This record gives sequence, C-alpha cells and structure tokens, in this order.
Amino acid sequence: MKRILITGGAGFLGSHLCDRFIKEGYHVIAMDNLITGDLKNIEHLFKLEHFEFYHHDVSKFIHVPGELDYILHFASPASPIDYLKIPIQTLKVGSLGIHNCLGLARVKHARVLIASTSEVYGDPNVHPQPEEYWGNVNPVGPRGVYDEAKRFQEAMTMAYHTYHGLETRIVRIFNTYGPRMRLNDGRVLPAFIGQALRGEDLTMFGDGSQTRAFCYVDDLVEGIYRLLLSDYAQPVNIGNPDEITIKEFGEEIIKLTGTSQKLISLPLPTDDPKQRKPDITKAKALLGWEPKVTRAEGLKITYEYFKSLSPEDLHRMAHHKEF
Ligand code: UDP
Repeated sequence: MKRILITGGAGFLGSHLCDRFIKEGYHVIAMDNLITGDLKNIEHLFKLEHFEFYHHDVSKFIHVPGELDYILHFASPASPIDYLKIPIQTLKVGSLGIHNCLGLARVKHARVLIASTSEVYGDPNVHPQPEEYWGNVNPVGPRGVYDEAKRFQEAMTMAYHTYHGLETRIVRIFNTYGPRMRLNDGRVLPAFIGQALRGEDLTMFGDGSQTRAFCYVDDLVEGIYRLLLSDYAQPVNIGNPDEITIKEFGEEIIKLTGTSQKLISLPLPTDDPKQRKPDITKAKALLGWEPKVTRAEGLKITYEYFKSLSPEDLHRMAHHKEF
C-alpha cells in the first residue's frame, strides 16, 4: 500500500486530496496546524483504518514514522485576507515548511509535489499565462508575502531536484472553488455567496473589470493526481481557462442565488491582478488533462453545499477568522 503525507490536509484543497488518495487505496497521513484548516473537512475520514491526522505546524521539524512514497505540500494560507492577517506564518510555511518537507522526502526517498500558484505571475503582462512567463510581482506589496514564499518554494524544490536528484513536481494552481471553502476566507466566491445568503449587497472590488478563471475542485484534484504520477519536474499550470470579469461573475451569483441584493463597488485592493487565465497547453499535452466541469455546474454544487451548512456553521463562518 502506498503511503502519502498531505500537509494542509484539513484545508480546502488538502481535504479533497485526502479523499481522492483514500479512494485510490493509499494510506493517507494528513498534517495541519488548523490555523486556516478545519477538522470538519476531514472528520468523515477519522474512522478509516488508513487515515491518520497529525496536528502539527510544518514550519517546525516534521517527524513521520514509517515509509512515505509521496509528500504533497499544501499547507499555506491561500486567500489575500488570510495571508494579510498572518504574513509571517505565510512566509514561514512557504520557506521553512517546504525545506522540512524536502528534507523528510530525502530521508524517505519520497516524491514531493508542491502547491504553487498563479500568483507567481503577479499582475501579469502576458495573457493568458504560460509556464515560461516569469511574472510581474511586487515583493514588498501586501501580496508579496504569499507570492514570494511560493516563488521561493519553487526555487527550493527545483534545487533539491537538481542538486539532490529528488523527484519533485510543481503545480501552479489558478483560482479554484468548490465545497469546503471557508465562507469567511475573503475570496470572491465565498464572499459573494455568503453575502447573498445573509441578504447583504455583494462587494465588488473596483469596477469589476478585472478577470479571473475559476476551476472546480474535482477538476483540479484530477490534474494534480495525474501530475504526481507523471515524470515531469517543471511547473505545470492547472486551472480552467474559462475567463470572466468579476462584475459578470457577481451577476452570475445574483442569478444563481436569486438574491434581491445588488453589486456595490468597494476600493480595489493594492496590486490586485487585472487579468488572469491559465494557458493549459502543457497540462493537455503532458497529462491529457483538461477541466470537465462547467462554471454553471460547479457553482450550483458549491451553492448547494453552502446552503446545506447548519446555522451553527454559518454563524461560525460569518465573520473573518481571528488568528
Ligand atoms: N473580489 C471582489 N469582492 C470580494 C472579494 C474579491 O470583487 O468580496 C475580487 C478581487 O479584488 C479580485 C477577484 O475578486 O479581483 C478575485 O479575488 P480572490 O480574493 O478570490 O482571489 P485572487 O485571485 O485575487 O487571489
């Protein structure tokens, strides 16, 4: 039986990865310090014989008994609101955290896959973004703590690959959504759906002309699964290229939820990228992967999930998390 360590295993993406690798017959060890992760995302797995949970901060030395075949490094705050509130931890988990994972991988002879991000492209001057684009990042702006941590993480991972011959994979994740996002994580989709559910106006930043392209979580997990099992060590974009302006996206959420509230404009945050859309030529050619779930289908499932939360959960998630 293959054994896999998933850091950030109680988070949005980490928990979906735990589900997938359990389904594939792996022994899954999830690790999380629960700062932004939530045990509710994985509590259905605790009864399984081949699931373990370690409450641990991966920025500190990691010890895992027994063999490991794979390590997925998904621990990190990932929404602008979160990493602005905990900037130092964000820098540490992307730097010290990956160093610990890579060291552990050497000892265990494990293959490492790291969660990188479209944020490595910053506010991109090339559109859509291919993997060869080096980006336009402000290191000292508010997003710098996340963007530079992820860029350092890629550099460190590549160094272990070339210097130590470690097997490594790098996925650059574009905006992804689905069940288990935190309603209060500040990202646009949970923000809009949460506001619609509470009968508040939807807070569009700026004039809403900035674009994003949203990928449903199951598609993303499939891409990551294929990349892990591939033999390709260079970065690969995984995302849905179906681009939309934030204004149009808000209008879609208004229609979906049937809310009588409207879009209101708030100031655009500093360094908010004006456009973003993945070039997925590489993922298609190397992994035979492309997204299958349309935004209409994915948004419907996600809305049903948020609607199904208990009043207690909704209350817990109604305000920004205090760290
Ligand atoms: N956004 C918005 N209203 C919100 C939250 C976000 O208009 O309440 C915008 C934000 O300015 C950005 C886009 O939606 O242009 C996506 O933001 P998100 O935080 O989801 O992710 P990002 O892609 O910026 O990391």
